[in-house]
Amino acid sequence: AKQSGRNRFRFFDVSISKEAREAFRTIECIRRALTRDELELLYQPKVNLRSGKVMGFEALLRWRHPKLGLIPPDAFLPAIERTDVIIDVGEWVIDRALRQIDAWAALGKHWPVSVNIAARHFQLPDFVERLQRLLRRHPDVDPQSLDLEIVESTAIDNLEHVSQCLTDCQKMGVTFSLDDFGTGFSSLSYLKRLPAETVKIDKSFVRDILHDKDDLALSEAIIKLSRTFEREVVAEGVETDLQESMLLGLGCYLAQGYGIAAPMPADQVAEWAAHYEL
Ligand code: C2E
Ligand code: CA
Ligand code: CA
Ligand code: CA
Repeated sequence: AKQSGRNRFRFFDVSISKEAREAFRTIECIRRALTRDELELLYQPKVNLRSGKVMGFEALLRWRHPKLGLIPPDAFLPAIERTDVIIDVGEWVIDRALRQIDAWAALGKHWPVSVNIAARHFQLPDFVERLQRLLRRHPDVDPQSLDLEIVESTAIDNLEHVSQCLTDCQKMGVTFSLDDFGTGFSSLSYLKRLPAETVKIDKSFVRDILHDKDDLALSEAIIKLSRTFEREVVAEGVETDLQESMLLGLGCYLAQGYGIAAPMPADQVAEWAAHYEL
């Protein structure tokens, strides 16, 4: 018994170092992808279901691997999220999104863009100064066009500091959304303590909203809470017309999802929007 215990321990040890090796490889690959300009952003529209208007876009990261093609973020973000590479990536994403806002503005399209920001990034002591520096690189962009989505999957250590940081960014005009709302363990205290303008109902609740009364109840509760706390509410992962009608009936007018449009390259956005708003 003692022998097998020791073997199991050794096996456990080896498997950890294999994971660590893979994570290390991914980190190196993403570092290189940044310098080789292999990262890209796709844009998924956020629409008002009631008015039929396009309200803005969420920027979603992809890695265009020279051999493997387009790689989704879930394949590489977990490895880099605990390293400073996530900050370089996050700043690249913000810079690229600001550039895109500027390009659309030149076409007369004043669409806000939401960017996903990792907890490690916005918890930097100098986050506000860093964001200011990025905004200064794009003097023609109205900071009000930039929205930062905060995911609560990674616990925020210092809610006091983060709350102050949000307030400071809001003074520059930047807005915030609480992403994946309801899936973490601190949603309610985040809602109470973080002054984000928008709450996003996680797609895991929206998926079965028609068939699962618990998911319906949760979505309804989030919509009511948002109203009480005077936040905008956006449903993500909307795939069908029936989900749209249900959300409209509950008073949730803003939505994103494959049923409206999948994330698309920037150069397809204007044409898509013209068609959608017809
Ligand atoms: P998220 O922020 O919750 O983004 C929504 C995800 O759901 C996106 O996956 C989107 O493509 C997908 N989606 C959109 N509509 C539907 C739908 O109707 N049904 C379903 N089943 N899925 C839908 P994606 O692009 O693979 O991104 C996955 C996650 O990676 C994001 O989840 C976000 O947390 C993270 N992420 C994406 N881009 C960035 C980034 O630039 N920085 C950081 N830190 N995280 C990012
Ligand atoms: Ca998001
Ligand atoms: Ca989500
Ligand atoms: Ca997510």
